[in-house]
Amino acid sequence: MEAIVRHERARQAVDAISRDIGLAINRCPVAVKAQSWQTPAAEMDELWDEASGKHKTHLWQALKHREPSDCGYGETGLGYDGIDDALSKHGEYACEHCLAAYRLIVERRHLRRELGGARMSIRALGRAALNSAGITVKEGV
Ligand SMILES: [Zn+2]
Repeated sequence: MEAIVRHERARQAVDAISRDIGLAINRCPVAVKAQSWQTPAAEMDELWDEASGKHKTHLWQALKHREPSDCGYGETGLGYDGIDDALSKHGEYACEHCLAAYRLIVERRHLRRELGGARMSIRALGRAALNSAGITVKEGV
């Protein structure tokens, strides 16, 4: 029972944070503009990224950002601190809403890990129950 409660709690936390991420992104001026009836169609197209199916918000740009890597070979993304800086007040893609969304996304990663752990313990309980009932299950199915 405890494992099921833990799983449900984690599930609800992930859902709630996903909702908050969506709300934060929708408050970004880019997203607002891209969804406004007053924005000319051509400009609207500019703000939409077909490949990712997302608006070109500051968060989108920061995640997409690539720069020459330190080793002098190829390119690299900004990484956690870099993205946080880029979205902060004096950063290259400064936007309080995108920054809020990004921090929630990072938090959601931790919550998903907790959800994964909860799922594992439910499965372990299920396997143990089958074992004690004398039913053997193939691993990895
Ligand atoms: Zn933004």
